[in-house]
Amino acid sequence: MKEKKISAIKILANLIKYTWRASPATFVVLVISSLFMSSLGFLEIITIEELFDSAVNVATGAAVELIYKPMLVLLGILVLFPVGEWLEYLVRGYFWRRGSGYMKFLHHGRINHMRSIEFENAANIDELHKATLGSEDAPNGLRVIVQILFLYLPYILSLMVYLVSIKPMLGFTIVLIFIPTLILQLIRMRQNFDFEDKIANRRRKTRYFERCILSKEYLKETFLNDSFGYFYQLFTESNREFSKALIAIKKRILKTSVLMKLLNAAGFLSVLALLVYYVYRGTISIGLFAAIYYSISKITNMFRRAISDIGEALVGIANTSFLVRLLEGDDRSGKKNTISKAQDIHLQDVCFTYPNSKEKALKNINLTIKAGTSLAIVGENGSGKSTLTKIIMGLYDPTQGVVKYGNKPLNYYADTSRFNGISAVFQDFVKYKLSAEDNIKISNITSKAMTEDALDKAGVSLANLSIHSETILSREFGGQDLSGGEWQRIAIARGLYRPHDLIVLDEPTAAIDPIEEANVFESFKEISVGKTSIFVTHRLGSTKIADRIIVMEKGEIVEEGTHKELMILEGRYHALLKSQAQWYEH
Ligand code: ADP
Ligand code: MG
Repeated sequence: MKEKKISAIKILANLIKYTWRASPATFVVLVISSLFMSSLGFLEIITIEELFDSAVNVATGAAVELIYKPMLVLLGILVLFPVGEWLEYLVRGYFWRRGSGYMKFLHHGRINHMRSIEFENAANIDELHKATLGSEDAPNGLRVIVQILFLYLPYILSLMVYLVSIKPMLGFTIVLIFIPTLILQLIRMRQNFDFEDKIANRRRKTRYFERCILSKEYLKETFLNDSFGYFYQLFTESNREFSKALIAIKKRILKTSVLMKLLNAAGFLSVLALLVYYVYRGTISIGLFAAIYYSISKITNMFRRAISDIGEALVGIANTSFLVRLLEGDDRSGKKNTISKAQDIHLQDVCFTYPNSKEKALKNINLTIKAGTSLAIVGENGSGKSTLTKIIMGLYDPTQGVVKYGNKPLNYYADTSRFNGISAVFQDFVKYKLSAEDNIKISNITSKAMTEDALDKAGVSLANLSIHSETILSREFGGQDLSGGEWQRIAIARGLYRPHDLIVLDEPTAAIDPIEEANVFESFKEISVGKTSIFVTHRLGSTKIADRIIVMEKGEIVEEGTHKELMILEGRYHALLKSQAQWYEH
C-alpha cells in the first residue's frame, strides 16, 4: 500500500459513492426523513408561538375558536414526531447495514487482490485493521453528515433566522449559548480522542496479561511453568496503572463538563433576562416569549446531539480514510492473462528484502528449474528456503532481479491467476476448522473429484483415523482434533488435490519422523511425474530422490548439483548428511 494522504473531500466523495451504490433508495429516504424532521421541528416552534398568543387573546376576551387551529396543528406535529423518529430509526439501521455490507464486500475483494508481501509489513496490517473498522464506521459517519446537512443545519439555521428576524438582538442568544457549547464540546471531543490514545496501549497490555492466565492457548504452559502468580501480578499492576490513567482522564473530562454546564446556564439566564425585558417593554408577545424559550432548549439539545454525532462521525471518517486508501490504491486485478506453470522457471539475479528489514533474505539468486523436474532445497533454519519458494511461486516479488516462467516475467501477472496451476503446502499450513473433506477441497470446494486419491497419495486413511469425510477437524466445533503428523498429511492431501503443474512442499513433514518423511517424498515424486516439484527440507536423507539439490546459506545458494555430485564434492551437503546419518540407522 502506498503512503499517501487522502483529502477529506475525496474521502467524502467516495463515501457518498459507496453508500449510494449500496442502496440509492435508502440514501434518498434518509435525506427526506431528515428534512421532514427538521421542518417538523420548525413548524412546532411557530405553532407554539401562535398557540400562546391565541391563548392570551382568548383569556383577554377573544373567541375561543381562535385556539383550535394551533392546537390541532400541534396535535398533528406531536403525532408525526414519533412516526418520523421511527422512520429515522429504521432508515439509520438500514443505511448502516447496506452501506457497511457493501463496503465490506469491496474491502474483502480488494484484500483478495493484495500481494502477500503486503501482509508482512506490520504497518500495513495495522492499516488493514483500521480499514476494516472503516467499513463498519463509515456509513455512520456519512449518516451523521447527511443529518447535519439535512436535519441539524436547516433546523438550527431556520430558528436563527426566525429569532433574528424578530429581534436582531436575539442573534446574541446564539453567541451566548451556542458558541461556548460548541467550543467546550470540541474540547471534550479532543479529550476523548486523547483518552483513547493514552489508554489504548495500557488496555491492550492488561488484556494480554489476562489472556496469559485465562486463554486456552496459554493455559497449559502457564500451569506447567507455575507462572499463574507471575501473570496475575503483571495483570493487577497493569490494571492498576490502567485504572489510574482512566480516573485521571475522567476527572479532566468531568471538569470540562461542569464548566460547560455552568457556562450554558449563565448564557441561558442572560437570554432569559433579555426576553423578560422585551416582554416587560411590550416589544414581544407572550407567545413569542414561549416560542423562543422553547426553541432555545430545543436548539441546545439539537446542538449537543449534533456535536456528539460529529465526534462519532470523525472517528468513523478517520478510519474511512484507510478504507478509501485501500480501495483507491493501484488495482492490479485487471490483468487476467494466465501463465502456464508447466514451463522452465528462471530466477535471474534475484534479491529480496522483507519490508521493515535491512538484511537481504535472498542474495543474487540465479537458478533455472526445468519443467517437470524435482528440486530439493536444503539449508539451516533461517537460510532463506521458505522465502525462496515464495519468490518462485510469485507470492512475493523480488526487490531486485526477475522471475520468469518461460520467457515471461512473473511480475506482469498480478491477479490470483498468477497462482493458477500451483499447489503449495506451507511450513505453517492452515488447520481449517472445517470438515476433513472441505479441508482438502478448499481450493476448489465445488469440485466433484473424489478426495480419496489425494488422501491415499498423502499416506493417510480417514478410516484409520476413525473419522469420516464430514467430520469437523476441531473439537471446538463438535468434531475431532488430529495430531500434528495427521494434520500434515491432510495438508499434503490438500496440496495434491489442487490441480497443478508446479507443487511446492515447504517442510510440511517436520512432525513426521525422518524415515516416514523419506517415504512421503518418495511417493510424492511418483505422483508428480511430469510436474515441476520443489521440496524444502532440513533432513538430507529425503533429498536423494530429487533431480537436483541446492544448498542455501544466509540467503545464498552455496552448493548445487545432484545427490551424487554433491557427495563427491564433499562440501557442506556432504558434511550435513554425515551429521544426520544416525537418523536413518535402524
Ligand atoms: P528458512 O525457511 O530457510 O528457515 P526463511 O526464508 O523463513 O528461512 O527466512 C530467511 C530470513 O528472512 C531469516 O533471516 C528470517 O529471519 C527472515 N524473515 C523471514 N520472514 C520474515 C518476515 N516476515 N519479515 C522479516 N524477516 C523475515
Ligand atoms: Mg522455512
